[in-house]
Amino acid sequence: MAMGGLDERKIEEIVSRVLERLGGAGGVTSAPARGPAIEPAKPKTNIPRGTNGVYQDADQAAKAARRAFEQNEKTSIATRVKMVENMRKAVLSNNDALSRYAVEETGLGRYEDKLSKNELVAKKTPGCEIIRTRAYTGDDGLMLTEHAPYGVMLAITPTTNPTETILNNAIGMVAAGNAVVFNVHPSAAGVCNWCVHLLNEAIQAAGGPRDVIVSIERPTIESANTLMKHPLVRIVVVTGGPAVVKQAMNSGKKAICAGPGNPPAVVDETANLDKAADAIVRGASLDNNIVCIAEKEVIAVTKIADNLIEQLKRKPVLWLDQRHVRELERVVLEGDHVNKNWVGKDAGVIAKAIGLGGHGHDLRLLMCEVDEQHPFVQHELLMPVLPLFRVRDSAEAIAAALRVEHGFHHTATMQSTNVENMSAMARVCNCSIFVKNDASYAGLGLGGEGYTSFTIASPTGEGLTTALNFTRERRCTLKEAFRFV
Ligand code: NAD
Repeated sequence: MAMGGLDERKIEEIVSRVLERLGGAGGVTSAPARGPAIEPAKPKTNIPRGTNGVYQDADQAAKAARRAFEQNEKTSIATRVKMVENMRKAVLSNNDALSRYAVEETGLGRYEDKLSKNELVAKKTPGCEIIRTRAYTGDDGLMLTEHAPYGVMLAITPTTNPTETILNNAIGMVAAGNAVVFNVHPSAAGVCNWCVHLLNEAIQAAGGPRDVIVSIERPTIESANTLMKHPLVRIVVVTGGPAVVKQAMNSGKKAICAGPGNPPAVVDETANLDKAADAIVRGASLDNNIVCIAEKEVIAVTKIADNLIEQLKRKPVLWLDQRHVRELERVVLEGDHVNKNWVGKDAGVIAKAIGLGGHGHDLRLLMCEVDEQHPFVQHELLMPVLPLFRVRDSAEAIAAALRVEHGFHHTATMQSTNVENMSAMARVCNCSIFVKNDASYAGLGLGGEGYTSFTIASPTGEGLTTALNFTRERRCTLKEAFRFV
């Protein structure tokens, strides 16, 4: 074992200590309070109104999707490949407007980061190619395992990645042969419906059926619940906070649930501190930290904490003193939950609200030092405010990461050059995404290897969902034939 590394016994000790504190429970019920789940719809900007695939009524939408599914089943694979290709192109060629309207309508995030996220999804979401039939041959003949569509899927999507989640889900679901009804977040309905319209045009231009992707013009929690119970909906896929995950799990249908996270960024005594600071600031400030995988707190080993803070101060970060931390608490917290008015706002705007004016769009983050129990650490803030706390050593850092992640098993990051520490944290945190030595978004394939997904299903275990998760496995056996070797 290398110096400072962790052996098996120590790992087990950490896990049992933390599980004891968490009451042995993981999942959505341990979520800290976040305030009301839904904001009232805001007045629309000048977003183009799309009507292709957009329905006023949930029942009509489900019926249209069912008709489309029956057509899609008969569509050739070559046409389906072309449909997906056109969907990618539709978003890439409208990315500027989609990104701009998403910021304008929701009031969340950064236009330039939405451009990157939409582009990532358009280019790196797996399509039909990920679905492969497996064949087994032997003395008894042939067996095939095929991936068949479910039928009509319901997708409930967040306000934080509005068009990204639509494109990502739609590519996977349609590539797998399904049709999908979107019940999007009411605060993003304008841009989402326009995106659905564009995707339908793209599909039809490829020779695909009408209404393979449909949405509800004015989505509500009620329309979401109607669709969850609708007899034509076979499977429910939700991407959002704890309330919608709980609702989907109680729907009585198969549910794929992508819930909240609170990703820790551990920096140990072996990290390259300049690179660590750069990665953390890039990751935590992506789209003003509204992305579920973005670093939400930094856990620094005492030995390097001062040097790390020095490095962080060299980035586009405003480091707050304790007086301004108190001011910030007053502004962004409301009792035991986060004040939603500040979610996704620019760091410069939040700084101004605590008397630190003069910072523009270039300022990426507000940072401060607090202790582990501080609400900035415990809550999923979803804004460019990143707290840091110190711990004695790497074992304590990993234990703290497990605690503050609240058992979501969503995303964690580590800045380290010690292989034992990295593998210990991977094992202990047991997350859908674990990134070492880069920004959290490398785990989405943005500057990291691999495909992307914007529905990272930790509560139900699929991880980064793809078309494969939107299929049923079917076995087809042939006795005593087609065994040629
Ligand atoms: P949200 O939970 O407020 O809304 C998400 C969707 O669920 C919306 O369409 C909303 O209308 C619907 N909804 C909310 N409560 C509902 C209920 N009781 N019944 C039916 N539908 C309901 O979340 P948000 O603010 O849009 O997004 C941010 C949250 O989503 C964060 O917690 C973030 O971590 C999480 N998220 C997770 C992933 C992932 O892949 N795991 C991706 C993006 C966002």
